[in-house]
Amino acid sequence: MNAALELGGTKTVVAVGENNGDLLDEYRFPTTTPEETLGRVVEWISAKTSPEAIGIAAFGPVRIDTKATDWGTMLASPKPHWNGFSITAALLAAFPESNITLETDVNAACLAEARIGAAAGMENVAYITIGTGIGAGILCGGRLLHGALHPEFGHILVPRKMGDEFAGICPFHGDCLEGMASGSAIGRRWGKPAHELSSDHPAWEIEAWYLAHGIIGLLAISPPQRVVIGGGVSQVEGLHDKTEELVRVLAGGYFPAVNEAPYVVAPKLGQKAGIRGALMLTGL
Ligand code: ZN
Repeated sequence: MNAALELGGTKTVVAVGENNGDLLDEYRFPTTTPEETLGRVVEWISAKTSPEAIGIAAFGPVRIDTKATDWGTMLASPKPHWNGFSITAALLAAFPESNITLETDVNAACLAEARIGAAAGMENVAYITIGTGIGAGILCGGRLLHGALHPEFGHILVPRKMGDEFAGICPFHGDCLEGMASGSAIGRRWGKPAHELSSDHPAWEIEAWYLAHGIIGLLAISPPQRVVIGGGVSQVEGLHDKTEELVRVLAGGYFPAVNEAPYVVAPKLGQKAGIRGALMLTGL
């Protein structure tokens, strides 16, 4: 039996199961300090099994390069106390015999959606999540995409929609994608949270505009066969279709992948994508 951990900014999920993503049991609790959170994780897993392998899906930024001396360490995290904490060291101390694999939460969710979810069987998939921030996991040629760090899709720079004077809220770039289209940006722009805006609110035309431009960036670099958009903000009716339509217009006939409908879809695994993807990491 293997174990998996999905470490989110607000909630943590720990599970035992199989490397095909089948969950046998899971436990969810709020993320607090690193010591307390990992303490609960270790205690729960220990009571269930001595895992052969552990897959971790973590919020970022986090060092996922296995050759780096600080592999598994949280980097410049906006979450107090987590900066510099090594998740892998904490788990290896408790389970020294376990084989540990670490990925970003969005890459793990992308893997799960690509294997058994909304893009099942595809080897080129992007999984975008829109919540407080924006992130994406990317499967390209069957492999999860990494670089010097990991993709930071939320910070892609997007052209402004004509007449849009909203300054954007990214502390680093102002009007990057996350600065213009994250749940926090929507809240600041309209003075109320995204879930209180009706599906015919003008907010969603603007949202689709920025998302579609971000997706064109993906198409140009790591072309997905399908784009899955999840996260709380994505749940408004019609956003996937609006975005897909605009992506097709912006593609200008140039990116053949977008002609295969449906191109922009909702996730199938919902809240389970991250933890099931984390279990799949134990089989990579
Ligand atoms: Zn930014």
